[in-house]
Amino acid sequence: MITEIFRLAEGQEVEKIRRAAEIIRAGGLVAFPTETVYGLGSDALREEAAAKIYAAKGRPSDNPLIAHIADRSALYELAACVPDWAEGLADAFWPGPLTLVFPKKPIVPDGTTGGLKTVAVRMPAHETARKLIRAAGVPIAAPSANTSGRPSPTTAFHVLEDMDGKIDCILDGGDAGFGLESTIIDATGPVPVILRPGYISAEMVREIVGKVETDRAAEQPLGSGEMPKAPGMKYRHYAPKAKLVIVAGKEAAVTDKINEMTAEQEALGIPCGVICARETAPCYHCTNKKIIGSRQHQETIAHNLYAVLRQFDEENTGMIFSESFEGGQLGQAIMNRLKKAAGYHIIQV
Ligand code: AMP
Ligand code: MG
Repeated sequence: MITEIFRLAEGQEVEKIRRAAEIIRAGGLVAFPTETVYGLGSDALREEAAAKIYAAKGRPSDNPLIAHIADRSALYELAACVPDWAEGLADAFWPGPLTLVFPKKPIVPDGTTGGLKTVAVRMPAHETARKLIRAAGVPIAAPSANTSGRPSPTTAFHVLEDMDGKIDCILDGGDAGFGLESTIIDATGPVPVILRPGYISAEMVREIVGKVETDRAAEQPLGSGEMPKAPGMKYRHYAPKAKLVIVAGKEAAVTDKINEMTAEQEALGIPCGVICARETAPCYHCTNKKIIGSRQHQETIAHNLYAVLRQFDEENTGMIFSESFEGGQLGQAIMNRLKKAAGYHIIQV
């Protein structure tokens, strides 16, 4: 299969989105930008279209897909029951980087939900995504457009790296905005439960609903045999090829420890890399240090995380040491991804 790239240059947008929507309606696969990361879309109501997503990504078939909608009315076609507090969250944060999980209606095939009796729904804010969904006239099932286990794509180039020859087309709309996947909230019980942290923080949810819980799997590895509520959380996601270690603690202790460990590893001939904030970058001796963003502007760290991990992959780095980025509105989301990428290997100094 030849993967076509549709660049969304001015003046051609309508025609390119129309062609991409035709591909979705014909049961094909289209990668498209959203305000979180690039998604890999197919018709959410066709079992065989969802199966193509799993094949292209090499995704385990028990890891369900999020259905993307452009209008609120579509929610009630997919979800069997929407509690008032979930309506409140949708009012506050849709369109936007929030996914809500509901009991599903029979119209949603098991192939889309990984056999679950629930369906995850999101209304993205990105204009291209919204136009594509409207033009297709169906909800679009779309996981991140990466090969399973690789960092999620935040540019059309990242999508091409993983999906060339496996999907029909890529709508190239430039960089994805936020850079991390949506916040997922279980809306099947009495209280919102965060299954995966994202831009919409626990605090923001609490302000609307008055209460919020966080699933254990969002913050720590589960024991063997334990099953997270979001099946995807059990897989080692976002993994770079190199071994990644997070060093956490007071700033000076962290920079000293990372300098000590990179010197040790480099003496053994292992190519090292460092992930650091702009503020502390001058403290590191390692020649391959990458500035991920600024602690003063946490959104820059979220935006660059996956691109930095992909860069290290290209350079065949053997060992990566990263600072920790806890705290603030985005700390929970950033650390959830970074800890998973590190296989929860954290050194506290
Ligand atoms: P991705 O689209 O690649 O960001 O992955 C989608 C995430 O949503 C995975 O972690 C899934 O486990 C989760 N998810 C999708 N549908 C459901 C559902 N019905 N219940 C719980 N989690 C879900
Ligand atoms: Mg993903």
